[in-house]
Amino acid sequence: MSDIQTVKLSNGKTAQAHTYLFYNNKFVPGNGPLIETINPTTEEVICKVHSADAKDVDAAVDAAHNAFHSEWKKVAAAQRGRYLNKLADLMERDIDELATLEALDNGKSFVVARDVDITDSIACFRYFAGWADKITGQTMETTYDKMCYTRLEPIGVVGAITPWNYSVMMPVWKLAPALAAGNTIVLKTSEVTPLAMLKLCELVVEAGFPAGVVNVITGYGQITGAALTGHPKVHKMAFTGSTQSGRLIMDSSAKSNLKKVQLELGGKSAQIVCADADLKNAAFWACGGIFNNHGQSCNAGSRILVHESVHDEFVKLFIEEAKKIKVGDPFDPEVTQGPQINVAQFNKILEYIDIGTKEGAKVAFGGKRIGSKGYFIEPTVFINCHNQMRVMREEIFGPVVCIGTFKTVDEAIEIANDSDYGLAGGVYTSNIDTGIIVSNALEAGTIWVNSYDIFDQSTPFGGYKQSGFGKELGLDSLREYSHIKSVKIQLVSRL
Ligand code: NAD
Repeated sequence: MSDIQTVKLSNGKTAQAHTYLFYNNKFVPGNGPLIETINPTTEEVICKVHSADAKDVDAAVDAAHNAFHSEWKKVAAAQRGRYLNKLADLMERDIDELATLEALDNGKSFVVARDVDITDSIACFRYFAGWADKITGQTMETTYDKMCYTRLEPIGVVGAITPWNYSVMMPVWKLAPALAAGNTIVLKTSEVTPLAMLKLCELVVEAGFPAGVVNVITGYGQITGAALTGHPKVHKMAFTGSTQSGRLIMDSSAKSNLKKVQLELGGKSAQIVCADADLKNAAFWACGGIFNNHGQSCNAGSRILVHESVHDEFVKLFIEEAKKIKVGDPFDPEVTQGPQINVAQFNKILEYIDIGTKEGAKVAFGGKRIGSKGYFIEPTVFINCHNQMRVMREEIFGPVVCIGTFKTVDEAIEIANDSDYGLAGGVYTSNIDTGIIVSNALEAGTIWVNSYDIFDQSTPFGGYKQSGFGKELGLDSLREYSHIKSVKIQLVSRL
């Protein structure tokens, strides 16, 4: 089986896809089991992709280790930035091909894949390209005859493991700061959606990165992921995925070489709609806040808490917004919601809709599968929800929102914080004091006021509680990929 395969799109066209592992700037076959990647729109196999066994992981880590200790260490910081900018240029050139593979493999609309996922990934590379030669330490004069300065040093080989819901953007959130800070990286893509990232590897070579600096492998979590996480030459793991897998990664780090760990995990974020909110605005943003990416976002605002006095009006406006979502083939330019990622998620979401109904929540909109082929589910609105229901506590990771009410802002904060998770939250109000007070009180890493789900490369993102720890994006994320060294100098020949 050759590396490049011609794959069929649901619109009858074709695309080219890499199916091998990528390390040392070469596409090479893997020795792990072949993985069938499935088109969630048609339920057909797109192609079979090679996976890495423990030996392949060793080879990829060795490539990264050798590159770090030889050439990459000596590359000037400004040159690291130029490589990243060049990669961004090439992604701009090939944006349609990247978005096509992402829409095919993941099921998200081609327009969203192009204008959000790939466009934001390009912006992320450019943002960190700018930082590469501006990484500085501090100087401290501890006493008159001593001084100290700090240096930010790269950690070495970074291991990264990413999920399927943003199969280019989550890798790029790790690649860009890791490389800007001077590390090399071995990234394991999700076994469910490897194709767009493998295409990006072609561009890594064209951008001129030295061999071994960027390495991308795919494979199952228990085989490839576990080998990478436990690897003694990997000194930092950056992970995005479920809370359950996050625990295993910490455990593996503890049992191997105590590598530095950063975890971006699940969520059950609350959006609070106050009595004084502009309800039309709130309905617009809250609807996108849950239904963007088919509800498959870690920061999805999947619980909506509405002041009881405006509940009925808000629900009416919210459903009007939800009715505008067009579900269908990702290559139809009008479509905003494609299929769910796979049969397991599809069944899980339908099961949660059943659980919610049995728990006493009422389906006010949607609630069913669409069609008989492809993993399509209607945007679904539950009302009459309270915080003890499983649908209010557990991450559904699909287009299902649970709406409940509150009487006072304090009660809303209490309900919102009554969660194992703490990734994000939202508050809608026309009073800036309320907006700030609620933002300060919510136990979550990102809060939006009068909007939701807006990201920028400059703004750190990461969780509280069981949503994980460590920050992606922004200056804070460079520190996640750096050691801070203190150099302390005694001034011996003092006057
Ligand atoms: P997952 O945890 O099943 O898989 C994520 C990645 O971890 C995959 O690459 C998988 O192969 C790997 N993996 C699984 N078991 C492993 C193990 N034992 N050792 C090493 N690697 C292992 O998650 P998923 O189903 O791909 O993604 C959905 C989850 O990701 C949701 O819970 C979602 O909230 C979370 N997520 C979080 C963020 C965030 O930034 N916080 C972003 C996107 C997704």
